[in-house]
Amino acid sequence: MKAEIISIGTELLMGELTDTNAAWIATRLPALGIQLRWVSIVGDNLDMLSEAFSRGLERSDIIFTTGGLGPTQDDLTREGVAAALGETPTVQEEAVRHLEQQFRNRGTDMPSRNIKQAQLIPSAQFITNRNGTAPGWWAERDGGIIVSMPGPPAEMHAIWDEEVAPRLLKLVDDEVTITRNIKTMGLSEAAIDEIISEFFGKENPYLGIYSKADGNHLRIIARAPDEAAARLLIAPVEKAIEERLGPHIWGYDEETPEQAVRILLRQRGLTLATMESCTGGYLVNSLTDSPDSASYFKGGVVAIGDGVKIAHGVPAEVIERHGAVSQETANAMAQAVRKGLGSDYSIGIAGDDGSPPGDGPPSGLAYLSIVGPNSSKEMELRVPPRRVTVKRRMSNNALIELRKLISSEGGR
Ligand code: AMP
Ligand code: MG
Repeated sequence: MKAEIISIGTELLMGELTDTNAAWIATRLPALGIQLRWVSIVGDNLDMLSEAFSRGLERSDIIFTTGGLGPTQDDLTREGVAAALGETPTVQEEAVRHLEQQFRNRGTDMPSRNIKQAQLIPSAQFITNRNGTAPGWWAERDGGIIVSMPGPPAEMHAIWDEEVAPRLLKLVDDEVTITRNIKTMGLSEAAIDEIISEFFGKENPYLGIYSKADGNHLRIIARAPDEAAARLLIAPVEKAIEERLGPHIWGYDEETPEQAVRILLRQRGLTLATMESCTGGYLVNSLTDSPDSASYFKGGVVAIGDGVKIAHGVPAEVIERHGAVSQETANAMAQAVRKGLGSDYSIGIAGDDGSPPGDGPPSGLAYLSIVGPNSSKEMELRVPPRRVTVKRRMSNNALIELRKLISSEGGR
C-alpha cells in the first residue's frame, strides 16, 4: 500500500512550526507494511489543499493529513477534502450535540464557529478524538483513502494509536509486519555497515541503521503471511548481528539505557550512586525517570566545580595532581560517592564543560569510572563537543557500560 503524508498549516510553511507530525507518522508505517512515498506541507488555502488531495489520490492509496481541523476560518482541511471529492459537507446533528456536551463538560457554551467541526461528507466517517473538540475524518472513495487528523501532536498520537492504527491493521491484514530493534554502542555506522554489509539493501527482511544518542540502532523489519513466518525471516539476520556485534549490543526494542540498568539492579537487589561533572545532572535525570528509582538509586552529586567534588569526599591532592578532567579524578569521584552513600555500584564522570579548547583538555572529553563490589571499569569518552550531545551521550555511555559490567559478573 502506497501512502503519503500532507502536513497542513501556513505556520509550517513559514518555518515557525516544525513538522514533527509527519516524522512521527512515518516511523509507524513500516511496521504496518505501508510504504511512504511522499511527504508534503501545504498552507491554509482551500485551492492548494484541494489540489494536493486530488493529486495525492491519483498517486497514493492512502493520504494521511494533520492540521487544519480547528474551528477557525483558516482551518480548511474538511473543505479541501470535500472539494477534492466533489462533495458538500453537511452538519451532523448528533455530532453537534456531542460537541456541545464536550463544552458543557468544560463549563462553557460552545462557540458557534465550532459547528463546522460537526460537518461531514457522505464518503467520510468521524474518527473520535478523546483529547480535543476536533474529530478526525476517515474518507474513502473509489479505493482511495484520506485520513485527516488534528494537528496538536498529543491529540494526533492518541487518535492514531486508538483509532487509525487498528483500522490500518485490518486493511493490510493479509500480511503481518514484525520489527526487531537491536541497540548497539561503541561502533560507528560505517563500521557496522562493513561488518554486516550483506544484509543491507534487501526488501524483506529490511535492515535499517539509525544513529541515536544511545548508540546505533539496527532495525530489522520483516513482512510475512503470519507472525511465525515473519520471525523466521528475522532470525538469521538477528543471529548474524549478535554473532558479529555481540559485545556492542546493550538492548533490544524499546529498551532505554536507564531501563536496562534498572532491570539489572532490581533483579539483583543492588544499589547505585553517581557523581558527575560535565553531564550536568543528566545522569541523575535519566536514572530518576522511573517512578521506583529510589529503590535502587541512592542519589547523585552534580559536581561542577572542584569545591563540590572535595566537599563530597574527592581528595584535593588528586584534582591538583591530575586535573579535574582525568581518569584519577573520575575514579576518586566514583569511590567517594560510593563510600559516602553506601551503594553497591557507583559511576564517576569527570569531563570539561564543552567550552572551546584553550589551555585545558579538548572539549567533548571525559573520563568514566565505574566501581562495584568485585570489579571496576575505567574509560575515556570522546563525543562531539556540543552541550546536549555531551550530556546525553556520556550519560548513556556510562549507563550502558554499567550494565555491561554488572551483567558480566553473572547472577548473585
Ligand atoms: P491546526 O489543527 O492546524 O489548527 O493545528 C493546531 C496546532 O497543532 C498547531 O498550532 C501546532 O501547535 C500543532 N501542529 C499542527 N500541525 C503540526 C505538525 N505538522 N507538526 C507538529 N505540530 C503541529
Ligand atoms: Mg492550522
